[in-house]
Amino acid sequence: MADWTLVTRQLSGKTRRFVQSTVLREDTGPLLAKRQGDCNRCGACCKILFRCPFLGTDDDGQYTCRIYKMRFSQCRLFPLRAADLRELEEDCSYSFEAEPLRPASLADPEPALD
Ligand code: SF4
Repeated sequence: MADWTLVTRQLSGKTRRFVQSTVLREDTGPLLAKRQGDCNRCGACCKILFRCPFLGTDDDGQYTCRIYKMRFSQCRLFPLRAADLRELEEDCSYSFEAEPLRPASLADPEPALD
């Protein structure tokens, strides 16, 4: 049975990345600066929601993109945020700097006692 929570998260993420990279074309530099690591070619991001028809394997059995030089911008930028990693069913070798904790002044106020 499908994990509908994951499917919903993947659909939302795919849409967000498409709009972000193709329509808005926002400056991704600040987001990429928070990304650490390198791609290990596990292919997990090429199987979000469905297996990409351009995903192939080389002679060593490693995943490869059949249109690598012309791949879509949302593929070039994956992962862009830590939230992107929550859509994967395998571990990605990229990681992100932890988000700073909210300052105490912005924390939820103590509930008032009657
Ligand atoms: S999930 Fe991460 S490590 Fe795996 S192929 Fe995609 S970017 Fe590379």
